[in-house]
Amino acid sequence: MKDFDAANNIQDLQYFGEFGGVNPSISDSSTYTFLSAKTMFDTFEGNTEGCYLYSRHSSPSNLYLGEALAQLEGTESANVTASGMGAITSTLLQLCKSGDEIVSSRTIYGGTYAFMKNFLPDYKIKTSFVDITNLEAVEAAITENTKVLFCETVSNPLLEIADLRELSKIAKKHNIKLIVDNTFSPLSISSQKLGADITIHSLTKFINGSSDAVGGVVCASSDFVNSLKDVNSGACMLLGPTMDSFRAASILKNLRTLHIRIKKHSENAQYLAENFEKDGLVVKYPGLKSHRQHELYSTMINKEYGFGGLLTLDVQTVEKANELMELMQNENLGYLAVSLGFYKTLFCASGSSTSSEIPEDEQKEMGLSPGLIRMSIGLDHDIKRTYEKMKWCMKQVGIL
Ligand SMILES: *Cc1c(COP(=O)(O)O)cnc(C)c1O
Repeated sequence: MKDFDAANNIQDLQYFGEFGGVNPSISDSSTYTFLSAKTMFDTFEGNTEGCYLYSRHSSPSNLYLGEALAQLEGTESANVTASGMGAITSTLLQLCKSGDEIVSSRTIYGGTYAFMKNFLPDYKIKTSFVDITNLEAVEAAITENTKVLFCETVSNPLLEIADLRELSKIAKKHNIKLIVDNTFSPLSISSQKLGADITIHSLTKFINGSSDAVGGVVCASSDFVNSLKDVNSGACMLLGPTMDSFRAASILKNLRTLHIRIKKHSENAQYLAENFEKDGLVVKYPGLKSHRQHELYSTMINKEYGFGGLLTLDVQTVEKANELMELMQNENLGYLAVSLGFYKTLFCASGSSTSSEIPEDEQKEMGLSPGLIRMSIGLDHDIKRTYEKMKWCMKQVGIL
C-alpha cells in the first residue's frame, strides 16, 4: 500500500446510470429475477459473482457505496449497514461467541460501551475495559479467550489517540483481531495502513456530512465481509441491519466531497483550538503541541487532512457548559446537538449526553469532567469571525 491515496482511489471509481447518467442508477428493488433456476441455486450457495438475490444480502447501490468505502480504507471489500451501531454489533457478534472475550478501550462511543457492558454479558461475552494509551495494561487484559481488541482511533469524547501500530503488534502476537472505529478521522487516518484488521465507520458523521442520514460500514478482507453476508451464518444477513438503497446512493454522492470538507473542518478546529489555548481556556485538540499525544498522532495522520474537526473545552461544571452552549446557539454559532461532521458546529456536554451510558464514577476515573463540551467544528467560511463571537459568548458567561 505504498502509494495508497484514498481520495484518488475513491475518485477513480466510476459508475454510470443505465442511460449514461453521471451517477449510478438507484436499485429500486428488494428482489431480483433469475433467467434460470440453476443460477438462483448457485447464488444461494454464494457461487455467482455479479448476481443479486435479495436486497437484505446486497443491492447494486449498496455495493457501489461499499466499494468506494473499501477504497477509503484500502481494504479488499466492505459492507454497508443501516447504522454505525449495526456495523459494530454485527462485527462483534460475528467474531465473538459465548465464552469469548473482548478487550476494549474504555473511552469509546456510549452506544458501543453500553453494548459491551450491558448487552453482551447475557450472551456470555465479557469485555475488559482498559486505558488504551497504556499498552502494558492492554496486553495484560488479553486472555486465552480474547478474540478482539477494540478501539477508536481518536476516542470519544476525550480525544485520546490509540497507537494503532503498537496495538496491531499486540493483536498479531496474540492472534486476535484489531477492530478500529475510525469515525472521527476518515481520510486523516488510514487505519489499515497502521495495522487494523477491520475498520468501522459510522457514516452518519463526517463521511455523509449533512446530518440527514444514518449509516455504517465494515471495511475488511473479502473473507470477513463475505462471512458477514453469509446466508446461513452471517450477522449482517441474519440480524438484518441493511442500508436502504436510496440512502446508499445519497451517501455515495456526499462521499465525493469528503476530502474538501475534512481539510476545512481541521483548519477551522486548529484555528479555534490555538486561539482558545492562547486565551487560557482548557482546550484539548490533537493538533495542539500541548496534547499529550500530539507527536504520536503527527506520525499517524495523512498530514494534508490535518488533525480533525473535534475539540473539547472543559468549563468545569455542567451548568456553565449549558449556559455557554445555549448562548452560542442563540448567537447562531452552532447547534446544541449530538453527532458530528455537520457544516454547522455542533456541541454537547458529553458527560450528560453522548457518554451518559457510562456511570458517573467511571466518567470521573477516565477524566470525563461534567463541564466537558465536545465541539464538532463546522465548515465556517470565516472562522476568525466565529472565534470573535465565541469569545464574546465566553465573556458573557464568565469563562473569560
Ligand atoms: C456515532 C458513532 C457511532 C454510532 O453510529 P450510528 O451511526 O449512530 O449508529 C459509533 N462510533 C462512533 C465513534 C460514533 O461517533
